[in-house]
Amino acid sequence: MSTGRLNIDLDAVVANWRALDGMTTCKTAAVVKANGYGLGSANVAKALFKAGVRQFFIAVAEEAAPIRAELGDKPDINVFSGHMKGDTDLIRELRLTPMLNSVEQMTRHFETLPGHPFGIQLDTGMNRLGMEPQEWAAVAELVLSQNPTLVMSHLACADEPDHPMNPHQLDIFKQLTDGISVPRSLAATGGILLGSEYHFDLTRPGIGLYGGLPFTDATPVVELDLPIVQVRDVAAGEVVGYANSWQAERATRLATVSGGYADGIFRILSDKATLFHGNTPCPLVGRVSMDLLTIDITDLDETPDKLTLIGPQQSVDDLASAAKTIGYEVLTQLGARYTRKTYGK
Ligand SMILES: *Cc1c(COP(=O)(O)O)cnc(C)c1O
Repeated sequence: MSTGRLNIDLDAVVANWRALDGMTTCKTAAVVKANGYGLGSANVAKALFKAGVRQFFIAVAEEAAPIRAELGDKPDINVFSGHMKGDTDLIRELRLTPMLNSVEQMTRHFETLPGHPFGIQLDTGMNRLGMEPQEWAAVAELVLSQNPTLVMSHLACADEPDHPMNPHQLDIFKQLTDGISVPRSLAATGGILLGSEYHFDLTRPGIGLYGGLPFTDATPVVELDLPIVQVRDVAAGEVVGYANSWQAERATRLATVSGGYADGIFRILSDKATLFHGNTPCPLVGRVSMDLLTIDITDLDETPDKLTLIGPQQSVDDLASAAKTIGYEVLTQLGARYTRKTYGK
């Protein structure tokens, strides 16, 4: 066995959902798009369903299939991208609730699936998805007469609590929706942490469930160990890896580890990442290759059979910051080649 081993703790996902749910007095959904942020949407949704979650969100209709197959008809599955051309059969057959993003989508939905549940997504300034305020003004009355399940919008800067965009979007969302009797939703993970004004009737956390920032108090969900395939001793002056990009300054014990950019270990981590044996850091030296990393283990007293890339010593967000990215990207790029062990509920 020479693939990396990815441990996914579903009890930690549930604990994170409960913690986020406990910060509000409204309902809490779960965002399981992108295959549950790379961790397996069916397993994640199953564990959360057992914990009481009945509303899930995905990005595109196709992502619903494994979740419906696992959970049957009970939970609501909401689709952020709405009702696209070509989605109609999936929306009907998998009983999805599209968040309609435009008058065009609204028209398509009412014409092709009259009476089928839907929600509305409004743009409050992010300019990514949702009806513009003028569009909403023109159709709100008609839409509200058709009993939408939800009216939602999304915050652009919620991970920065002091950003003026937050109250600005809150204000616009209120102007567009105050007085309607339909449930409202504005907050993802970051919005939950902004406080009760942002919570409305339903929150939509994603990253916080999976242990990532901005939810600083999250329970870690993933650990990643990479097996050592070979160990060698190189003399001072010898070079290592593609382009000879690292040269030993001392006699060095080098471990070649299974895992590379094809597994989501970004190439920008060349000469930068740190792996761990227990608490001892072992620096990555030379380039990240497609399938392998070369690690300086000179300072270890023993030769282990694996090294840890994500674990108690180094979080997903620590690794993300070394790679100049965010935890969301590290998680969603975790490779398909790892041996995945999912445990917990
Ligand atoms: C991805 C997404 C979420 C979840 O966001 P997190 O920051 O991961 O909590 C919520 N709402 C929308 C519209 C999204 O695209």
